[in-house]
Amino acid sequence: MIDLPWWGVAWAVAVGGGWASKSVRQALRTRHERKLQRLAAEERRQLALDAANKPPEPVCGCTHHLAKHDKQGKCHEMVEAPTAWDAERKPVSYEPRRCNCQQYVGPQPLATVYAEEIVDLE
Ligand SMILES: [Zn+2]
Ligand SMILES: [Zn+2]
Repeated sequence: MIDLPWWGVAWAVAVGGGWASKSVRQALRTRHERKLQRLAAEERRQLALDAANKPPEPVCGCTHHLAKHDKQGKCHEMVEAPTAWDAERKPVSYEPRRCNCQQYVGPQPLATVYAEEIVDLE
């Protein structure tokens, strides 16, 4: 047994204890930062997945939404149809007319099924 003077023991406790708690704190902080980084990465991945899974807007080739088309596929949206043209063949007057689209030709909305992903949050 080495006989340390009291200040020697105090010094060893202060330095040793201080170093230990500092490294523990450092380790905890690093762990916390890593966790935050992982959560941020997880969030970005989820956003990318959402964007990829998002069905395209059901918009017809006539530029009108699927909802404007009836069951037969005919479009019921009103459009401005030119009724008179000037000498340069530019329309000078318009009248509202029904879109003459006969068939919806856009993407069909899919029934959206969400499978909750199991996220390991520790
Ligand atoms: Zn249409
Ligand atoms: Zn239309």
